[in-house]
Amino acid sequence: MTDNEILGTRRLTPVAELLSLVIPVFDEQDVLPLLVDRLRPILDGLESSGFVSEYELLVVDDGSHDRTVEVLHQLGADWPQLQVLELRRNAGQQLAIAAGLREARGDWVVTMDADLQDPPELLPHMLDAADARQVDVVYTCHADRDSDGWLKARMAGAYYRMVRRVAGVPVEPHVGDFRLMSRAVVTALNALPERHRVHRLLLPWLGFPSVTLNHTRDKRPAGKTHYSIPRLLKVTADSVVSFTTAPLRWATLLGLGTGVLSLLLAAGSAAAQVLGLSIPGWASLAVMITFIGGIQLICTGILGEYIGRVFVEVQRRPAYDLARVTSPASLQPHERLAHRSEAEQRDVSGT
Ligand code: UDP
Ligand code: MG
Repeated sequence: MTDNEILGTRRLTPVAELLSLVIPVFDEQDVLPLLVDRLRPILDGLESSGFVSEYELLVVDDGSHDRTVEVLHQLGADWPQLQVLELRRNAGQQLAIAAGLREARGDWVVTMDADLQDPPELLPHMLDAADARQVDVVYTCHADRDSDGWLKARMAGAYYRMVRRVAGVPVEPHVGDFRLMSRAVVTALNALPERHRVHRLLLPWLGFPSVTLNHTRDKRPAGKTHYSIPRLLKVTADSVVSFTTAPLRWATLLGLGTGVLSLLLAAGSAAAQVLGLSIPGWASLAVMITFIGGIQLICTGILGEYIGRVFVEVQRRPAYDLARVTSPASLQPHERLAHRSEAEQRDVSGT
């Protein structure tokens, strides 16, 4: 069905009484006007066609350094449904999503990126699928990742294969953070106490009935990706470590393996002594030492990953700091302009 067909017929019963949209943003000043131009007609269309009775849009500013908050305040001046949630510091995309999910009041909640790589035109189809298939989660899958570049697309492929095999999470390949969830799912997510969250894995782990829609992942129309190779590796480590302790077992096996190897070498060199054969070589000794040293460091590193997470969890610091929630449309123009500097002054004075 096309977008016009799906929105053209007025529904008698809405799929959602209140649809909440949660969008994490970090340094996205250039893409936000483009997002609003494309998103608003679709959300208004959902309301006027009776798909949803009303909607709210929660844009979570993840401690941006550029003019993102100001731009949001300008764009929201005549959009009463738009609320801006400001995190005091950059907490990362997953925690920004968590902050939005906690504030969302809708009976259905959508999470999506701000950069239009997730096409907003899919929203009516997602609601329709949830209603027709009676599921709690509608995932979206972007199988073709040409827009992401060769290396990132390959890394993404390897990531999904690894988390399936190693972490044992039944995640479908290339299912991202653009999804629709029922209130039951959001309540279950909000109840999870952990700080290191990878929502795309937590969702299949929770195991609610779901359906997946495919879409093409477009190129970013403005701005640039925040996921460099080191940051992608950190997400991979978070994904594995928060779902399985298998790497700890591998470390033990590796230790056992090198133990057996050194026993064999000891037996071999004893035999050589008895037979009067000289054993040449500092070089081979040095290689052995560095080999075993390397394995020990790898095992310590694996252990460190887990201990580090235990440490962070027992510190019990708040995962994010929600500085304020504002609805730009209800502010007076002079309040909107004063807004940012006021927040900055408060930061400086520490109140
Ligand atoms: N994002 C965020 N906090 C961060 C990094 C990213 O809120 O620390 C947001 C970003 O503004 C965007 C979404 O998360 O709306 C996805 O980020 P990005 O497009 O950089 O990721 P990619 O699509 O390249 O994987
Ligand atoms: Mg993106």
